[in-house]
Amino acid sequence: MIEDKNQSKTPLSELGEFGLIDHLTKDFSIKKKSTVKGIGDDAAVLDFKDEQIVVTTDMLVEGVHFDLSYMPLKHLGYKAMIVNLSDIYAMNAKATQVTVSIAVSNRFPLEAIEALYSGIKTAASLYDVDVVGGDTTSSTTGLIISITAIGTTKSKDVVYRSGAKSNDLLVVTGDLGAAYLGLQVLEREKEVFKVNPQNQPDLENYTYIIERQLKPEARKDIVKLLNDLEVKPTSMIDISDGLSSEIMHLCKESQVGCELYEDKIPLDPQVISTCEEFNLDSTTVALSGGEDYELLFTVSQEDYTKIKANPNFTVIGFMKDKSTGMNLITRAETSIPLKAQGWNSFNN
Ligand code: ADP
Ligand code: MG
Repeated sequence: MIEDKNQSKTPLSELGEFGLIDHLTKDFSIKKKSTVKGIGDDAAVLDFKDEQIVVTTDMLVEGVHFDLSYMPLKHLGYKAMIVNLSDIYAMNAKATQVTVSIAVSNRFPLEAIEALYSGIKTAASLYDVDVVGGDTTSSTTGLIISITAIGTTKSKDVVYRSGAKSNDLLVVTGDLGAAYLGLQVLEREKEVFKVNPQNQPDLENYTYIIERQLKPEARKDIVKLLNDLEVKPTSMIDISDGLSSEIMHLCKESQVGCELYEDKIPLDPQVISTCEEFNLDSTTVALSGGEDYELLFTVSQEDYTKIKANPNFTVIGFMKDKSTGMNLITRAETSIPLKAQGWNSFNN
Protein backbone atom coordinates (compact mmCIF):
# COMPACT_ATOMS: atom_id res chain seq x y z
CA MET A 1 0.00 0.00 0.00
CA ILE A 2 1.24 3.45 -0.83
CA GLU A 3 1.15 5.64 2.22
CA ASP A 4 -0.14 9.14 1.65
CA LYS A 5 2.25 11.36 3.57
CA ASN A 6 -0.49 13.90 4.21
CA GLN A 7 -2.58 11.28 5.94
CA SER A 8 -0.01 10.26 8.56
CA LYS A 9 -0.49 12.24 11.75
CA THR A 10 1.67 11.85 14.82
CA PRO A 11 0.32 13.60 17.91
CA LEU A 12 2.90 15.87 19.56
CA SER A 13 2.17 14.17 22.90
CA GLU A 14 3.94 11.07 21.53
CA LEU A 15 7.25 12.97 21.53
CA GLY A 16 6.99 15.34 24.47
CA GLU A 17 8.77 18.70 24.54
CA PHE A 18 12.35 17.41 24.54
CA GLY A 19 11.57 14.77 21.94
CA LEU A 20 10.06 17.44 19.73
CA ILE A 21 13.04 19.79 20.15
CA ASP A 22 15.46 16.96 19.34
CA HIS A 23 13.43 15.94 16.33
CA LEU A 24 13.15 19.47 14.95
CA THR A 25 16.74 20.48 15.52
CA LYS A 26 18.63 17.29 14.72
CA ASP A 27 19.69 18.25 11.21
CA PHE A 28 20.59 21.86 11.70
CA SER A 29 24.28 22.12 10.97
CA ILE A 30 26.55 25.04 11.73
CA LYS A 31 28.06 26.84 8.75
CA LYS A 32 29.05 30.30 9.94
CA LYS A 33 32.49 30.88 11.39
CA SER A 34 30.94 33.25 13.92
CA THR A 35 28.87 30.44 15.47
CA VAL A 36 30.95 28.97 18.30
CA LYS A 37 28.10 26.96 19.83
CA GLY A 38 24.66 26.44 18.30
CA ILE A 39 21.72 24.40 19.53
CA GLY A 40 22.18 22.12 22.55
CA ASP A 41 23.34 24.17 25.50
CA ASP A 42 21.68 26.76 27.71
CA ALA A 43 22.65 29.48 25.25
CA ALA A 44 24.35 29.83 21.87
CA VAL A 45 27.85 31.32 21.75
CA LEU A 46 28.79 33.68 18.93
CA ASP A 47 32.05 35.44 18.11
CA PHE A 48 31.98 38.44 15.80
CA LYS A 49 35.50 39.73 16.40
CA ASP A 50 35.37 43.49 15.79
CA GLU A 51 32.11 43.70 13.85
CA GLN A 52 28.98 45.44 15.07
CA ILE A 53 26.01 43.23 15.81
CA VAL A 54 22.49 43.84 14.57
CA VAL A 55 19.55 42.10 16.29
CA THR A 56 15.87 42.05 15.36
CA THR A 57 12.77 40.05 16.36
CA ASP A 58 9.36 39.54 14.77
CA MET A 59 6.47 37.45 15.96
CA LEU A 60 3.73 35.98 13.77
CA VAL A 61 0.44 34.97 15.37
CA GLU A 62 -2.15 32.68 13.80
CA GLY A 63 -5.35 34.54 12.99
CA VAL A 64 -3.55 37.90 13.19
CA HIS A 65 -0.63 37.59 10.75
CA PHE A 66 -1.48 34.42 8.87
CA ASP A 67 -4.38 32.18 8.01
CA LEU A 68 -3.52 28.51 7.66
CA SER A 69 -6.46 27.89 5.34
CA TYR A 70 -4.38 29.23 2.47
CA MET A 71 -0.90 29.61 3.97
CA PRO A 72 0.88 26.24 3.80
CA LEU A 73 3.03 25.70 6.92
CA LYS A 74 6.18 25.32 4.87
CA HIS A 75 5.59 28.76 3.40
CA LEU A 76 4.82 30.16 6.82
CA GLY A 77 8.19 28.97 8.15
CA TYR A 78 9.92 30.47 5.14
CA LYS A 79 8.06 33.77 5.43
CA ALA A 80 8.72 34.07 9.17
CA MET A 81 12.43 33.90 8.34
CA ILE A 82 12.14 36.45 5.50
CA VAL A 83 10.32 39.00 7.65
CA ASN A 84 13.28 38.98 10.06
CA LEU A 85 16.11 38.75 7.55
CA SER A 86 14.63 41.72 5.70
CA ASP A 87 15.08 43.86 8.83
CA ILE A 88 18.76 42.87 9.04
CA TYR A 89 19.35 43.79 5.40
CA ALA A 90 17.55 47.12 5.98
CA MET A 91 20.44 48.00 8.34
CA ASN A 92 22.85 47.29 5.45
CA ALA A 93 24.08 44.28 7.45
CA LYS A 94 24.69 40.60 6.71
CA ALA A 95 22.42 38.08 8.45
CA THR A 96 24.35 35.33 10.23
CA GLN A 97 22.20 33.51 12.82
CA VAL A 98 18.57 33.13 13.88
CA THR A 99 16.74 31.68 16.86
CA VAL A 100 13.27 30.23 16.34
CA SER A 101 10.63 30.07 19.06
CA ILE A 102 7.30 28.36 18.58
CA ALA A 103 4.15 27.91 20.63
CA VAL A 104 1.94 25.11 19.29
CA SER A 105 -1.36 23.62 20.36
CA ASN A 106 -1.90 19.87 20.18
CA ARG A 107 -4.25 20.51 17.26
CA PHE A 108 -1.02 20.35 15.20
CA PRO A 109 0.48 16.94 14.52
CA LEU A 110 4.23 16.45 14.26
CA GLU A 111 3.99 16.45 10.47
CA ALA A 112 2.65 20.02 10.52
CA ILE A 113 5.56 21.24 12.62
CA GLU A 114 7.96 19.36 10.35
CA ALA A 115 6.50 21.26 7.40
CA LEU A 116 6.97 24.56 9.24
CA TYR A 117 10.59 23.64 9.93
CA SER A 118 11.25 22.57 6.36
CA GLY A 119 10.42 26.15 5.32
CA ILE A 120 12.71 27.50 8.04
CA LYS A 121 15.48 25.18 6.89
CA THR A 122 15.07 26.14 3.24
CA ALA A 123 15.33 29.83 4.09
CA ALA A 124 18.30 29.25 6.43
CA SER A 125 20.24 27.50 3.71
CA LEU A 126 19.28 29.92 0.93
CA TYR A 127 20.08 33.00 3.01
CA ASP A 128 23.11 31.35 4.59
CA VAL A 129 22.24 31.71 8.27
CA ASP A 130 22.68 29.26 11.16
CA VAL A 131 19.73 28.33 13.37
CA VAL A 132 21.41 28.49 16.78
CA GLY A 133 18.57 28.10 19.23
CA GLY A 134 15.00 28.81 20.14
CA ASP A 135 12.25 27.76 22.47
CA THR A 136 9.39 25.31 22.21
CA THR A 137 6.24 25.62 24.24
CA SER A 138 2.58 24.72 24.07
CA SER A 139 -0.29 27.03 23.30
CA THR A 140 -3.97 26.50 24.07
CA THR A 141 -5.24 27.35 20.61
CA GLY A 142 -3.20 28.58 17.68
CA LEU A 143 0.34 28.68 16.43
CA ILE A 144 2.79 31.44 17.27
CA ILE A 145 6.21 31.73 15.71
CA SER A 146 8.80 34.24 16.85
CA ILE A 147 12.18 34.55 15.16
CA THR A 148 15.16 36.59 16.26
CA ALA A 149 17.72 37.34 13.58
CA ILE A 150 21.30 38.38 14.20
CA GLY A 151 23.57 40.07 11.70
CA THR A 152 26.87 41.87 11.50
CA THR A 153 28.34 44.85 9.82
CA LYS A 154 31.32 47.16 10.12
CA SER A 155 30.34 50.19 12.16
CA LYS A 156 31.05 52.49 9.20
CA ASP A 157 28.55 50.57 7.05
CA VAL A 158 25.45 50.62 9.27
CA VAL A 159 22.57 52.53 7.72
CA TYR A 160 19.87 53.99 9.96
CA ARG A 161 16.49 55.47 9.19
CA SER A 162 17.79 58.82 10.35
CA GLY A 163 20.48 59.88 7.85
CA ALA A 164 18.47 61.29 4.91
CA LYS A 165 19.25 64.85 3.83
CA SER A 166 17.28 67.36 1.80
CA ASN A 167 17.89 66.77 -1.98
CA ASP A 168 18.79 63.09 -1.50
CA LEU A 169 17.16 60.75 -3.99
CA LEU A 170 14.47 58.38 -2.72
CA VAL A 171 15.00 54.91 -4.21
CA VAL A 172 13.05 51.65 -4.00
CA THR A 173 14.01 48.13 -5.07
CA GLY A 174 11.80 45.75 -7.07
CA ASP A 175 8.11 46.51 -7.43
CA LEU A 176 5.31 47.24 -4.98
CA GLY A 177 1.78 46.19 -4.08
CA ALA A 178 1.93 42.59 -5.31
CA ALA A 179 1.85 40.86 -1.91
CA TYR A 180 -1.25 42.76 -0.82
CA LEU A 181 -3.07 41.91 -4.04
CA GLY A 182 -2.02 38.26 -3.73
CA LEU A 183 -3.72 38.24 -0.35
CA GLN A 184 -6.89 39.71 -1.88
CA VAL A 185 -6.97 36.91 -4.45
CA LEU A 186 -6.39 34.22 -1.79
CA GLU A 187 -9.13 35.71 0.45
CA ARG A 188 -11.53 35.75 -2.48
CA GLU A 189 -10.80 32.12 -3.37
CA LYS A 190 -11.28 31.13 0.26
CA GLU A 191 -14.79 32.63 0.21
CA VAL A 192 -15.60 30.89 -3.09
CA PHE A 193 -14.34 27.61 -1.63
CA LYS A 194 -16.58 28.01 1.45
CA VAL A 195 -19.64 28.28 -0.81
CA ASN A 196 -18.59 25.55 -3.22
CA PRO A 197 -15.80 23.21 -2.06
CA GLN A 198 -15.82 21.48 -5.48
CA ASN A 199 -14.64 24.68 -7.09
CA GLN A 200 -10.96 24.45 -8.01
CA PRO A 201 -9.54 27.95 -8.23
CA ASP A 202 -7.84 28.99 -11.45
CA LEU A 203 -4.93 31.07 -10.23
CA GLU A 204 -2.91 31.17 -13.44
CA ASN A 205 -3.28 34.93 -13.91
CA TYR A 206 -2.13 35.60 -10.38
CA THR A 207 1.03 33.50 -10.02
CA TYR A 208 3.37 36.43 -9.39
CA ILE A 209 1.20 38.23 -6.85
CA ILE A 210 0.35 35.03 -4.97
CA GLU A 211 4.00 34.07 -4.81
CA ARG A 212 4.81 37.52 -3.44
CA GLN A 213 2.27 36.91 -0.66
CA LEU A 214 3.06 33.28 0.14
CA LYS A 215 6.76 33.15 -0.63
CA PRO A 216 8.31 36.60 -0.30
CA GLU A 217 12.06 37.09 -0.54
CA ALA A 218 14.34 39.42 1.43
CA ARG A 219 16.79 41.62 -0.50
CA LYS A 220 20.08 40.10 0.60
CA ASP A 221 21.28 40.74 -2.96
CA ILE A 222 20.79 44.49 -2.58
CA VAL A 223 23.15 44.78 0.39
CA LYS A 224 25.83 43.11 -1.73
CA LEU A 225 24.97 45.15 -4.81
CA LEU A 226 25.17 48.47 -2.95
CA ASN A 227 28.50 47.40 -1.53
CA ASP A 228 29.79 46.40 -5.00
CA LEU A 229 28.62 49.73 -6.43
CA GLU A 230 30.26 51.54 -3.52
CA VAL A 231 27.01 53.23 -2.64
CA LYS A 232 26.19 53.75 1.03
CA PRO A 233 22.58 54.87 1.41
CA THR A 234 22.06 57.86 3.70
CA SER A 235 19.01 56.14 5.22
CA MET A 236 17.22 52.83 4.69
CA ILE A 237 14.15 50.85 5.80
CA ASP A 238 12.42 47.70 4.56
CA ILE A 239 8.89 47.88 3.22
CA SER A 240 6.73 45.78 5.49
CA ASP A 241 3.80 48.15 6.05
CA GLY A 242 3.45 49.93 2.70
CA LEU A 243 5.50 52.57 0.92
CA SER A 244 3.66 55.51 2.46
CA SER A 245 4.27 54.67 6.09
CA GLU A 246 7.91 53.66 5.43
CA ILE A 247 8.60 56.98 3.69
CA MET A 248 7.08 58.74 6.67
CA HIS A 249 9.38 56.81 9.03
CA LEU A 250 12.45 57.90 7.03
CA CYS A 251 11.27 61.52 6.94
CA LYS A 252 10.42 61.61 10.63
CA GLU A 253 13.66 60.00 11.79
CA SER A 254 15.74 62.12 9.39
CA GLN A 255 13.86 65.36 10.06
CA VAL A 256 13.19 65.99 6.36
CA GLY A 257 10.25 66.23 3.99
CA CYS A 258 9.84 64.56 0.60
CA GLU A 259 8.21 64.51 -2.79
CA LEU A 260 7.14 61.13 -4.11
CA TYR A 261 6.20 60.90 -7.79
CA GLU A 262 3.15 58.76 -8.47
CA ASP A 263 4.19 57.95 -12.03
CA LYS A 264 7.55 56.57 -10.85
CA ILE A 265 6.17 53.95 -8.44
CA PRO A 266 7.26 50.55 -9.88
CA LEU A 267 4.34 48.19 -10.50
CA ASP A 268 4.30 44.72 -12.04
CA PRO A 269 1.86 44.30 -14.97
CA GLN A 270 0.01 41.66 -12.91
CA VAL A 271 -0.51 44.26 -10.18
CA ILE A 272 -1.99 46.67 -12.70
CA SER A 273 -4.34 44.10 -14.24
CA THR A 274 -5.46 42.72 -10.88
CA CYS A 275 -6.11 46.24 -9.57
CA GLU A 276 -8.38 46.82 -12.57
CA GLU A 277 -10.20 43.57 -11.87
CA PHE A 278 -10.68 44.36 -8.16
CA ASN A 279 -11.47 47.99 -8.89
CA LEU A 280 -8.58 49.15 -6.72
CA ASP A 281 -6.29 52.10 -7.34
CA SER A 282 -2.79 50.75 -7.97
CA THR A 283 -1.12 53.75 -6.31
CA THR A 284 -3.16 53.22 -3.14
CA VAL A 285 -2.22 49.54 -3.17
CA ALA A 286 1.50 50.36 -3.50
CA LEU A 287 1.30 53.08 -0.85
CA SER A 288 -0.64 51.09 1.71
CA GLY A 289 -0.50 47.42 0.76
CA GLY A 290 2.49 46.19 2.72
CA GLU A 291 4.47 42.95 2.94
CA ASP A 292 6.58 43.72 -0.12
CA TYR A 293 9.88 43.30 1.77
CA GLU A 294 11.63 45.53 -0.72
CA LEU A 295 14.18 48.08 0.48
CA LEU A 296 13.51 51.81 0.49
CA PHE A 297 16.54 54.05 0.80
CA THR A 298 17.95 57.47 0.13
CA VAL A 299 21.24 58.30 -1.60
CA SER A 300 23.01 61.57 -2.17
CA GLN A 301 22.70 63.04 -5.68
CA GLU A 302 26.38 62.26 -6.33
CA ASP A 303 25.60 58.56 -6.29
CA TYR A 304 22.92 58.80 -8.98
CA THR A 305 25.26 57.74 -11.79
CA LYS A 306 26.18 54.56 -9.89
CA ILE A 307 22.59 53.37 -9.52
CA LYS A 308 20.72 54.82 -12.49
CA ALA A 309 21.29 52.00 -14.97
CA ASN A 310 20.52 49.18 -12.53
CA PRO A 311 17.12 47.54 -13.08
CA ASN A 312 16.86 46.69 -9.36
CA PHE A 313 16.48 50.36 -8.46
CA THR A 314 13.81 52.95 -9.19
CA VAL A 315 14.19 56.58 -8.17
CA ILE A 316 10.73 57.56 -6.96
CA GLY A 317 11.30 60.98 -5.46
CA PHE A 318 13.43 63.45 -3.56
CA MET A 319 13.88 64.38 0.04
CA LYS A 320 13.03 68.01 0.81
CA ASP A 321 13.24 70.39 3.70
CA LYS A 322 11.06 69.40 6.59
CA SER A 323 8.91 72.49 6.08
CA THR A 324 7.78 71.17 2.65
CA GLY A 325 6.03 68.24 4.31
CA MET A 326 5.68 64.78 2.79
CA ASN A 327 3.81 64.90 -0.48
CA LEU A 328 2.71 62.71 -3.35
CA ILE A 329 2.99 64.42 -6.72
CA THR A 330 0.18 62.82 -8.71
CA ARG A 331 0.11 62.04 -12.42
CA ALA A 332 -1.99 65.19 -12.81
CA GLU A 333 0.92 67.07 -11.14
CA THR A 334 -1.03 68.03 -8.06
CA SER A 335 0.64 67.71 -4.68
CA ILE A 336 -1.22 65.87 -1.94
CA PRO A 337 0.03 65.06 1.56
CA LEU A 338 1.06 61.44 2.14
CA LYS A 339 -1.06 59.56 4.61
CA ALA A 340 0.22 56.87 6.92
CA GLN A 341 -2.12 54.05 6.16
CA GLY A 342 -0.63 50.95 7.66
CA TRP A 343 -2.10 47.96 6.00
CA ASN A 344 -4.40 47.27 8.98
CA SER A 345 -6.28 50.48 8.50
CA PHE A 346 -6.36 49.68 4.80
CA ASN A 347 -8.48 46.62 5.56
CA ASN A 348 -11.23 48.57 7.33
P1 ADP B 1 16.29 25.51 28.12
O1 ADP B 1 15.58 24.63 29.10
O2 ADP B 1 17.68 25.90 28.51
O3 ADP B 1 15.44 26.65 27.64
P2 ADP B 1 15.48 23.92 25.89
O4 ADP B 1 15.26 22.53 26.31
O5 ADP B 1 14.30 24.82 25.72
O6 ADP B 1 16.56 24.58 26.85
O7 ADP B 1 16.29 23.92 24.54
C1 ADP B 1 17.38 23.08 24.31
C2 ADP B 1 18.14 23.55 23.13
O8 ADP B 1 17.32 23.50 21.96
C3 ADP B 1 18.61 25.00 23.24
O9 ADP B 1 19.84 25.11 22.57
C4 ADP B 1 17.54 25.78 22.52
O10 ADP B 1 18.03 27.00 22.04
C5 ADP B 1 17.17 24.80 21.40
N1 ADP B 1 15.78 24.92 20.97
C6 ADP B 1 14.65 24.76 21.71
N2 ADP B 1 13.54 24.91 20.98
C7 ADP B 1 13.95 25.17 19.71
C8 ADP B 1 13.29 25.43 18.48
N3 ADP B 1 11.96 25.47 18.38
N4 ADP B 1 14.04 25.64 17.37
C9 ADP B 1 15.38 25.64 17.47
N5 ADP B 1 16.08 25.40 18.59
C10 ADP B 1 15.38 25.17 19.71
MG1 MG C 1 13.71 26.62 26.49
